[in-house]
Amino acid sequence: MNKTFLVQEILRLKHEKNAVILAHYYQNEDIQEIADFIGDSLELAKKAQNTDADIIVFAGVLFMAETAKILNPDKKVLFPDWEAGCSLADGCDPEDFKMFKQQHPDHVVVTYINCAAEIKTMSDLVCTSANAKKIINSIPEDKKIIFAPDQNLGKYLEKETKREMVLWKGSCVVHEAFSLDKLIEIYKKNPTAKIAAHPESESHILKTAHYIGSTSGITNFVKTDPAAVFIVATEAGILHELSKAVPEKTLIPAPSKEDNTCACSECSFMKVNTLEKLYLCLKNETPEMVLPETLRKEALKPIERMLELS
Ligand code: SF4
Repeated sequence: MNKTFLVQEILRLKHEKNAVILAHYYQNEDIQEIADFIGDSLELAKKAQNTDADIIVFAGVLFMAETAKILNPDKKVLFPDWEAGCSLADGCDPEDFKMFKQQHPDHVVVTYINCAAEIKTMSDLVCTSANAKKIINSIPEDKKIIFAPDQNLGKYLEKETKREMVLWKGSCVVHEAFSLDKLIEIYKKNPTAKIAAHPESESHILKTAHYIGSTSGITNFVKTDPAAVFIVATEAGILHELSKAVPEKTLIPAPSKEDNTCACSECSFMKVNTLEKLYLCLKNETPEMVLPETLRKEALKPIERMLELS
């Protein structure tokens, strides 16, 4: 199916079915171009909560489609591909997490939004990288905290909030793939560049950064900082929107350890979604995210607490 046909059909079906397409910054360019809204996890969660559409097509990974369904029980939530997982969400098994929680009773459980709905049901608070500091700071000083599933974000938060936490040892395969040596090499060639990094990156990468923040935070930093060159340490999909917003600036993706074709870090889970799969899911209204109501209601509680606080 050619791209022109797919774009036309998606626009027609979207209108006919009163659907909205929400796409994460890490989606491929074709999907970003056709989306009604592009954002990070927090922005998309809020958008999903406020939409008037009857159908939400979520171009992202599974935990994001789950979050959209948790917030919108009466809407149909579609997503292009069941294979769009996430190493963080997949690395935190509900049964194992239950035992982990039992080993640390009396702890407030804060989970990063990149986790399965079952994990959210075992959480007191959910956070995203954009609001994590605020969420941790909202917890009384005398309370002990479990943070899951991203240990890199957890270590960064421990430093920032000066709170010790019990960390689940999960990580994002994309943000752990950055090569410090290659990053330094690029920086030496571009000594006036500013380095912007996502806190899912390892601490040795974060130490080099002039700015650390969520995808939306990095976007704002690059737009507003006067530097002309930026090295961006997060999934490379963010560069598509950014380069349109600041065409006069040079944006260099932080290099990964592997010698892949783009020499940057791409999330293979995010990239399983294609324009064709998006078209087919809108046309056939499948795959659809369906959650048992008890699970949905329990998973909603910590998300609502997060939205109230952020
Ligand atoms: S970039 Fe990392 S955290 Fe985001 S979806 Fe991919 S694997 Fe998960």
